[in-house]
Amino acid sequence: SSRIDRPEGNTRALRFGVVLDSQGGVLQHIIRPDSSARGTLPPPLRARIRDSIRAHGPALARLSRLRREGYRKIVAIPLPRDIAPSLLLLVTAVAPMERAPGTAGTERTHASLQALALDAEDFIRDILGPKFRDIAGAEDFILVCTDRATGRVILSTEPDSSQWTMPEQQRPLWMFPDHRVGIRMRGESAAELARARTTASIVLFSAVGLLLLAGAWLLFRGFQRELRLAAMRSDFVSNVSHELKTPLALIRMYAETLEMERIPDPEAQREYLRVIMRESDRLSRLINNILAFSRIESGRAHYHRERLDLGATVRAVLAIYRVHLEHEGFRLTVEEADALPMIDADAEAVAEALLNLLDNAMKYSGESREIIVRTGTSDTETTDRDVWVDVEDHGIGIPPDQQKLIFEKFYRVSAGLVHTAKGSGLGLTLVDHIMRAHGGRIDVRSTPGTGSCFRLCFTAAAPLPGD
Ligand code: ADP
Repeated sequence: SSRIDRPEGNTRALRFGVVLDSQGGVLQHIIRPDSSARGTLPPPLRARIRDSIRAHGPALARLSRLRREGYRKIVAIPLPRDIAPSLLLLVTAVAPMERAPGTAGTERTHASLQALALDAEDFIRDILGPKFRDIAGAEDFILVCTDRATGRVILSTEPDSSQWTMPEQQRPLWMFPDHRVGIRMRGESAAELARARTTASIVLFSAVGLLLLAGAWLLFRGFQRELRLAAMRSDFVSNVSHELKTPLALIRMYAETLEMERIPDPEAQREYLRVIMRESDRLSRLINNILAFSRIESGRAHYHRERLDLGATVRAVLAIYRVHLEHEGFRLTVEEADALPMIDADAEAVAEALLNLLDNAMKYSGESREIIVRTGTSDTETTDRDVWVDVEDHGIGIPPDQQKLIFEKFYRVSAGLVHTAKGSGLGLTLVDHIMRAHGGRIDVRSTPGTGSCFRLCFTAAAPLPGD
């Protein structure tokens, strides 16, 4: 999605967002659809971004350390003027995502920083301008912003341009090292002026600092979703390549061993074959998920809804999956409601949703080996009835603040909750999409350390005339 959440006010100042590795390499970029800088970032600009990031290595390393400890900070880095006259990078660290083992050495290629490129002059004019005028209007001040090198006035709260001389009281404009802000009193007596000036400059200069901070945050907030997505997408690539490689390597190894007829014991041979089957199942589920996801993204996902007995679909899925579950040492308990109303749904899509939930229940079970599948109905506020299936595990659970995020594409709960299960971060996105397309929903109840219960909730179909 290229939807850009627009913070209130004008965000013309925002030029683009980038996700960077720790060496300043651009992993992903987002260019505002309405910006003049359409398309990709030109290579010279990328090179300048990289150089500037490297030059600020220690400050940015501190940023990442703070982020790991849960603090967020912005570092402002101006880009060289030859490439963009007043472009400034506002850099924050990316929350540490779970790293696939075996990719530790490639840390460099993981998203570790995100930056917004702002046009400093647009920012000063559009975001600070109105606030400056508010302050200056109420009091008898004139606030002036100038370019430090040339002294050119970028913003003044004094409409009469003949008054645009830079006042003596000047400060650098915090985030904008190439710009200065100055304060002047309007038509006061000399004595009053001297007294007022000291208080005014202290108060106003701090106010300007706060305004800058608030303005920058506003922009960041608006762009956050896109940036987070871009960071996750770049981690997705390394997760998935890892996910594809492991089963392939196993399949190859076991097949080779069998092929060389080194294993005489038939029971051991069967075990090898089972591993091959399990790993190829895993591969095809991953590939199915990626294909289904790309169909959804391109709007090519279609579902054939027909009268469906949810209970029968659940039984069919479990008949296939049970062997796999039990082979992994899980105990599957099924609690079926009798006489479940029919629903209108695509049997394959429902099975896919259920498989994804079962897969997750296994992956995130931790030490527990208990999975419960339950079906049932509940009455709703309207005349409809809900028909649902629950998949419950007693595993690691999901922290409350992440329970909404897990349905976002590529999202995986970060390393804070130690789990080593691999994944693409697409499973629940697909399930959520399938449920919405069916006019239903997916609910989650979960407690960290206790377990999770995911519920697929459909609406009971209106009975057919013949029923
Ligand atoms: P994947 O499992 O491939 O990472 P999903 O979209 O299926 O992607 O799930 C997103 C994230 O939600 C997972 O990475 C995991 O952190 C969390 N999650 C999903 N199901 C469970 C569960 N049953 N218990 C705990 N965490 C879960």
